[in-house]
Amino acid sequence: MSQSQSQICILGGGFGGLYTALELNRYRWQTRPQITLVERKDHFLFTPLLYELVTGELQTWHIAPHFAKLLAGTDIHLEQGTVESVDLDMRRVILSGGKVLSYDRLVIGIGKETLLDVVPGAAGNALPFRSLADVNRLKEQLRLLELSDLSQIRVAVVGAGPNGVELACKIADRLKERGRLLLINRGDKILKNFAGSSQKAALKALRRRRVQLELSTTVESVDSDSITLVHQDQRRTHPVDLVLWTIGTRVADWVPNITNIQNEKGEFLVLPTLQLIKHPEVFALGDIAASNDSEHWAPATAQAAFQQAKIAAQNIRASLTGRTLRAFRYWHIGEMITLGINASAISSFGINLSGPVAGVIRQWVYLLRMPTFRHRFQVACDWLSQMPSGVAVKLWQGLAGLFRRNATHKRRSHSQNPDVGESSRRTHRK
Ligand SMILES: Cc1cc2nc3c(=O)[nH]c(=O)nc-3n(C[C@H](O)[C@H](O)[C@H](O)COP(=O)(O)OP(=O)(O)OC[C@H]3O[C@@H](n4cnc5c(N)ncnc54)[C@H](O)[C@@H]3O)c2cc1C
Repeated sequence: MSQSQSQICILGGGFGGLYTALELNRYRWQTRPQITLVERKDHFLFTPLLYELVTGELQTWHIAPHFAKLLAGTDIHLEQGTVESVDLDMRRVILSGGKVLSYDRLVIGIGKETLLDVVPGAAGNALPFRSLADVNRLKEQLRLLELSDLSQIRVAVVGAGPNGVELACKIADRLKERGRLLLINRGDKILKNFAGSSQKAALKALRRRRVQLELSTTVESVDSDSITLVHQDQRRTHPVDLVLWTIGTRVADWVPNITNIQNEKGEFLVLPTLQLIKHPEVFALGDIAASNDSEHWAPATAQAAFQQAKIAAQNIRASLTGRTLRAFRYWHIGEMITLGINASAISSFGINLSGPVAGVIRQWVYLLRMPTFRHRFQVACDWLSQMPSGVAVKLWQGLAGLFRRNATHKRRSHSQNPDVGESSRRTHRK
């Protein structure tokens, strides 16, 4: 196939889709393919730092930069629209409004949605926490409750996975003395599958904030002013002012209609190369893909989607230029969770840290994972401008050194291996 004819269509501008597009854009091509990113929203969302918007520690532009800004100066064409269907046989993407896009290579990275409709009343009375719109709704509700004459503000958070624990700590810090937090979990442990040190630090943080933990407990129903729980066959109804729902995800309604090669959750089953079974021209990654490297299933995390994006981009280029495709292997580099304002727990390669220092490290490590050098630079400058000057100067020197070393290393590896072929427009990535 001649590269001049290649149309690469990427569905979803999240951790999988956007980072695949940016990676493809960095390559030096003999003939550039047309890269189209289809996304319904006007902004990317760096979800790991979403909690910081509830407490006002970060501003929206830090973690939700507009695609128009991120893609300026790239050859990526943004198609703002909602995908309604994909015809795999005809190689066509159908958008709402009827627009049709053709492709030679397709990347599906549309993520998943929060599954709310699991117990009576949850869909109407509980708030999800996944998008910028969710955060804004939550902030507005908290603001109204804070303005009310209630002496106590009672908030129930359903699910004690990372989302539930992080959210409970942040809300408790925002509400301070007025907050009465209830954290409900069906299992008997919080942060299942997390390192013991993270679980311990989280338990301590929850206890310090007087968050009431309800373990081995299921939610039976949610009403506008109460939540009914069942624990060891005992039913109890708690009056609440706000319920937050952090568990369960679902695929979009149209996804199961496009192929039958999906698991029971509706996720696409992909080969180790991230290609769809029977459709080698289609790649799926991130939360919507069930990808197995013969040892483990890749988790539904930003960390996994970010790693897959690099392989998806490499494999798309390989498939267009007749080279061998690589298998994706998930590499777990650790876990970081926020435990209230300016505090976190980190567990990575045997190093366990918690408290304010971990909070600073988490924030700056995430900065290096944000898309595009320009955005990272602007956010870094803004964060540094808010720090005491001595600390800022030291941090700035450290960061400048890191960026310089990174650039030198990339220049060297580029000149040693010109075949790698990344263009001078590349952004600097750790
Ligand atoms: C609050 C929160 C905190 C998290 N914290 C962490 C963390 O600390 N570490 C971690 O590793 N993971 C974290 N995650 C998980 C992480 O966000 C996901 O695993 C990751 O975003 C998956 O990437 P993705 O590209 O598959 O999907 P997403 O990042 O969700 O991107 C999907 C994109 O597709 C778009 N889209 C969807 N449907 C359509 C359509 N029909 N048409 C057009 N566009 C569409 C969406 O608008 C979205 O932009 C967190 C998740 C949440 C909700």
